[in-house]
Amino acid sequence: MLVRVLGAAAGGAFPQWNCACQQCQRSRSGTFAGQPRTQAQVAVSEDGVAWTLLNASPDLRIQIEATPQLWPTGNSLHSPIQSVVITAAEADTVAGLLSLREFQPLDIYATPSVLRIIREDNSLFALLDRVPRQAAWREIQPNVPFSVAQLDYQPFSLPGGFPGFVTSSRKSELDASEAVIGLVIESPTGARMAYLPGVANVEESWRDWLDECDLLLFDGTFWTDDELCRVRGGGKPASAMGHLPLSGPCGSLAALSGIKCARKIFFHINNTNPILDESSAAYTEVLDAGWEVARDGMEIRI
Ligand SMILES: [Zn+2]
Repeated sequence: MLVRVLGAAAGGAFPQWNCACQQCQRSRSGTFAGQPRTQAQVAVSEDGVAWTLLNASPDLRIQIEATPQLWPTGNSLHSPIQSVVITAAEADTVAGLLSLREFQPLDIYATPSVLRIIREDNSLFALLDRVPRQAAWREIQPNVPFSVAQLDYQPFSLPGGFPGFVTSSRKSELDASEAVIGLVIESPTGARMAYLPGVANVEESWRDWLDECDLLLFDGTFWTDDELCRVRGGGKPASAMGHLPLSGPCGSLAALSGIKCARKIFFHINNTNPILDESSAAYTEVLDAGWEVARDGMEIRI
């Protein structure tokens, strides 16, 4: 299985257009010991020919242009991107679908609740339904495996609600267990990857299957729970946004210590997170714990 990290940052990217925090300022001025990053986006492929996107970030068009494997071939409309698996209805996970609207056939997988938000509450996405056989919207259910382009997917429900733009009356019609899903993806050779970009807490039972994974892409949004408030002087705690911070006795570094997964990578990193700074103590602590910090353009073969 080939895994390409097209974008490693959380929503807003790094630097974020309206953020003047120290890290964003130093990134703009060229004095930051770390790379800029686009918004979270991953592509996977078993054969290197047919690719599946995991979510569709607002930066998708420039991420595709930065990735030759995803360029069209021949001399007409074509794309190696054949499918998209959506794990939540957030703007950061679906907005990029609008960049895929140029009459390209696509299989789009999401839970029934997420599909209703996309298709019934946001008429812009009808741009993907302008001609027959353009978007094929495919329902998936937590705990019901499905296969896409030779890869087997095991979706499971994660804690976390529907996006803030979903009305309360609509929420009352939806199934909360379908709001946010994680994925374990397995290749025909048995290589296994876990994709968990937004995790509120680590269940003790996860250790068993995480030990069996060759690759873990895990929520690296915040270093501390009060990060936004401390860095920007305002904003919700990480826990209120459905993200377990990395540090501290209850953080993800502690909760996942000792798991046997071969490659553990923090992904979906907010611009305020000090792990972006390769001269920081936080970055060193992450590396010393056996983790990596995702970068745009990372290619992993498992
Ligand atoms: Zn910032």
